[in-house]
Order: sequence, then structure tokens, then C-alpha cells
Amino acid sequence: MTRRNLLALFSALGAGSALHAAAPKAASGKTFAVEFSEAEWKQRLTPAQYDVLRREGTERPFTSPLNKEKRLGTYHCTGCDQALFTAAMKFDSGTGWPSFYTTLPGAFGTTTDNKLFMVRTEYHCSNCGGHHGHVFDDGPAPTGKRYCNNGVALKFVEASA
Ligand SMILES: [Zn+2]
Repeated sequence: MTRRNLLALFSALGAGSALHAAAPKAASGKTFAVEFSEAEWKQRLTPAQYDVLRREGTERPFTSPLNKEKRLGTYHCTGCDQALFTAAMKFDSGTGWPSFYTTLPGAFGTTTDNKLFMVRTEYHCSNCGGHHGHVFDDGPAPTGKRYCNNGVALKFVEASA
């Protein structure tokens, strides 16, 4: 390899890492396996999904058809289709949002947020960074956790018989 080629290689590598540094970050500031620009997310998601997943919005309670979903199956992220919960993890919390007492392993990451003048634990898809809801310590046994999830962020996939 000539010195000139080597320099070209270094500058190409340099440009590559500069691009990487400029890659879009989710609200948490972390990078994720699935990443799109805000414009691309807007195209891929419905306005309601975009508000929750990318803007940490909260859907109005008792609006999600998934509140009443009782069939066997799996709940996936509408941002990237990663499997997050199974139907066996769901319980009726009466809050108006689909609620789960645990998650599939590695499905989520968490951050602490101080919105609404209280400290809450926000959780987001570990694959795309999309916001899903908040986790509280008033859930049922055995975990005592309540994952309060926006239904619009979830896609239910019924188990095949
Ligand atoms: Zn996701």
C-alpha cells in the first residue's frame, strides 16, 4: 500500500467516525441498533405512535383496544417490532393503560425523568429507543412492578394455535 493510499484510507476512516458521531440520538442520548432521522420516524409511524415513541407523549387512558386484549400472544414494539411482553405478563391494572408486571429479558432500558414534578422511571425499547411508558412499584406479585405501557406503542401478535 502506498503512502497516498494510506492517507486516503485514514481520511475515509475519519469521515466514517465523524458520520457516526453525528448519527441521530434518541432522547436518552444513547445509540440503538435501529435508528432513523426524525423525518424518517414521522414517515414510518402514525402521528399518535410518533408522539409516544419519539416525543415521550402519553396516550389518553382507556383509549387503547389492547386494554381488553386477553388472547395468548406477544406484544411487540411498533417502532421496530422487537418482542417486549407476553400475554402472560399482562394484568388488568384498572388504570386505562395496558399493564404488565414484567418484561421479556433485555426488552427495555430505563431512564429517570422529572416531568410532572415527580421522579418517575421511564422505559424505552432497547432496540430502537422508542419510549413506551413508566414503571411503578405498585404492581402485583411476584415482581411488585407495574409497567404502564402506551397501547399505541404496542403491536399484539396472537400466538398461532
Ligand atoms: Zn423498538
